[in-house]
Amino acid sequence: ESNSNLIRATLFPGDGIGPEIAESVRQIFKVAEVPIEWEEHYVGKEIDPRTNSFLTWESLESVRRNKVGLKGPMATPIGKGHRSLNLTLRKELNLYANVRPCYSLPGYKTRYDDVNLITIRENTEGEYSGLEHQVVRGVVESLKIITRQASLRVAEYAFHYAKTHGRQRVSAIHKANIMQKTDGLFLKCCREVAEKYPEIKYEEVVIDNCCMMLVKNPALFDVLVMPNLYGDIISDLCAGLIGGLGLTPSCNIGEGGIALAEAVHGSAPDIAGKNLANPTALLLSSVSMLRHLELHDKADRIQDAILKTIAEGKYRTGDLGGTASTTEFTNAICDHL
Ligand code: NAD
Repeated sequence: ESNSNLIRATLFPGDGIGPEIAESVRQIFKVAEVPIEWEEHYVGKEIDPRTNSFLTWESLESVRRNKVGLKGPMATPIGKGHRSLNLTLRKELNLYANVRPCYSLPGYKTRYDDVNLITIRENTEGEYSGLEHQVVRGVVESLKIITRQASLRVAEYAFHYAKTHGRQRVSAIHKANIMQKTDGLFLKCCREVAEKYPEIKYEEVVIDNCCMMLVKNPALFDVLVMPNLYGDIISDLCAGLIGGLGLTPSCNIGEGGIALAEAVHGSAPDIAGKNLANPTALLLSSVSMLRHLELHDKADRIQDAILKTIAEGKYRTGDLGGTASTTEFTNAICDHL
């Protein structure tokens, strides 16, 4: 087999259960004959002895060069003054949109069985600008920054995503009745972009009403786009609708077309190294990555095999109420392939 046909992708297995669930992805990609060659780098809680840093230039360059990658969970280094590695990656690679597909898994019973929505979160500004200070004793101030550039960029991504993924509607989530200037500008940018996509329905939903609607009937939503803090909260709320963080994939989109897919859960130190972790979230993230690469055939096959394995219920990991190990679950998916 000639290597020139292979797409190079960066793999950061990360900490804790990271290496175990990354191994599951490797195995399944091999069985499904996905034309990807992994370029593996360690990023996590151990310091690189050569550079004395948590994140090396090589790791960042690898993502910038390959433009596509998959990351496992990274434990936040303990001690004062360390920015989380996720935040560092986000800043260094300018990962401006966090995309989370959220759909009910057939056969895995939750309160809802018809969830099928996508949350798209602006990832670089808003309430996360880190600009907080004390004005006088007893009074503090935090600045929420919204720019036209970042708002247009995430809105453009949301509409492009809707169009290329056969979605019908984009809902902008806001609180512009109170945050008139900031959320007002965000909405204005969404409207501008909406005009360029007449085939996609556009609506605006106030965040409090959005929460109520999501809990009452999540099937009302299709693609949701929102500023940073709202996105943080709503995306976890949506993960809860389908059974929790162990099942939810995500993908970060960055400048220059970078896509870094990642599971949203942490390194699960309580079960690390015990062959108990559920690899589903990382696997479905890798499926998001394949879709970004337009390898839809492979993505469909792998996704089907995962969903069938979970629906069958014979091999499920402990977090889903089963007794299967990570390897048994992975092997069952391979059998379905
Ligand atoms: P966690 O997500 O690691 O664990 C919470 C609970 O969920 C644990 O009981 C764990 O066993 C379980 N769990 C998580 N993922 C699972 C999986 N795939 N299969 C089965 N069970 C799973 O959250 P935490 O304990 O708050 O954080 C642990 C570490 O992870 C911390 O160092 C934290 O900073 C880091 N973290 C990293 C990320 C990331 O890299 N994206 C996200 C969250 C937390």
